[in-house]
Amino acid sequence: MVTKDGSGPATAHEAYAFACLSCGRGWEQEYAIQHQTDPEHPDGPPLVRYLAGGRPVPSPLTHPRCPACEGTRVRVIRSGLVAAAERATGGVARR
Ligand SMILES: [Zn+2]
Repeated sequence: MVTKDGSGPATAHEAYAFACLSCGRGWEQEYAIQHQTDPEHPDGPPLVRYLAGGRPVPSPLTHPRCPACEGTRVRVIRSGLVAAAERATGGVARR
C-alpha cells in the first residue's frame, strides 16, 4: 500500500455537463484533471492532462464532441445544470 501524498501530480476531479447544439443531446462526464509542472519549462504554464475513466482524453473545453452525432457544436455547462439544459431543448423525455 503506497501513498504518494505531495509527490505526485495534483489531481482534481471535475464534472462537466455538455449539450449538443446539433441534435440536442445532453450528457455529463467526470474528469480527473492533473496539473504538472513542465520539466523543460518550469517557469511556464503547467501541463494539464484530462483523464476520463482512467484514459487520457483531449481537453473537453477546447475539443468537445457529441457521442451521438459526432457534432462539434457542443456547449459546455458546469455540472449540475444538465437537467435544466435538457428541459430547455426538450430533447429528453422525463422518466
Ligand atoms: Zn449531437
